[in-house]
Amino acid sequence: MSEALANPSAPSVIWLQGSGCTGCTISFLNYVSATAPQSAADILITNINLLYHPNLSAAAGSTVADVIAKAVAAGNFILIVEGGVPTAFGGRACAPWSEGGVEVTFLAAVQRLAAKALKVVCVGNCASFGGVSASGSNPTAVQSVKVATGKTTINVAGCPPHPDWIVWTLVQLLQGKTIAVDTYGRPKTLYSKRIHDICPFREADEAKTFGVAGRCLEELGCRGPSTYANCPTNKWNNGVNWCIGAGAPCIGCTSSTFPGTSALFKTAS
Ligand code: SF4
Ligand code: SF4
Repeated sequence: MSEALANPSAPSVIWLQGSGCTGCTISFLNYVSATAPQSAADILITNINLLYHPNLSAAAGSTVADVIAKAVAAGNFILIVEGGVPTAFGGRACAPWSEGGVEVTFLAAVQRLAAKALKVVCVGNCASFGGVSASGSNPTAVQSVKVATGKTTINVAGCPPHPDWIVWTLVQLLQGKTIAVDTYGRPKTLYSKRIHDICPFREADEAKTFGVAGRCLEELGCRGPSTYANCPTNKWNNGVNWCIGAGAPCIGCTSSTFPGTSALFKTAS
């Protein structure tokens, strides 16, 4: 962390976590590349000035409040949000830190930081659209960051998003580039291709049951026909495989309506 902070000219990064499962952070930490940056550690030490991350920072309590206050005053930071924003109970279902002995709600923290950030990046569907955290009865009234703050967000969709998608987006912003997005705020470079159109199983026989390799999974509820991402070509786990390649239907995790209700989950349950 001290090495990262040694580069004062780079935009700072603040990563907040609200209502989620930390899976987006885990995905980011799985980043692997043959070219620089080669790992999440490489990114954290060499490429970004990470001021705060709930899991990766040693800072806690008043130290966090001080770091956040300085960042807001400087105004030269990118805000990354993982997880949705609980808005019920005055936001008190989620309080990331305290200031002067008073809990700061995630709602208030995100609103304050989003208003000052150079860019607001939502990592994952919970932050981007509400996702799993806003599904079902949603007793804490979780909202997306855009709804909760009224700010435009760059949505790195997925549950979780591929580490390459997170890093690509960060690299663009750190280089000062403009990211073209679709109507859901997703970077077009990453989310313009429909899974079904680039799936290698388009001409394959339809699978009737789970556990059969090399078949089209449409009859089992595959959401590839309505889902946009580069999973078939990019693959996951350092290019090892992807959901459909492993015999599991696409669950549509980059869609704004994910998880929604569908025959897929009824079939799989
Ligand atoms: S988007 Fe998915 S992986 Fe990320 S925090 Fe939400 S539930 Fe977890
Ligand atoms: S497995 Fe899914 S994405 Fe692939 S061809 Fe069949 S329906 Fe389309």
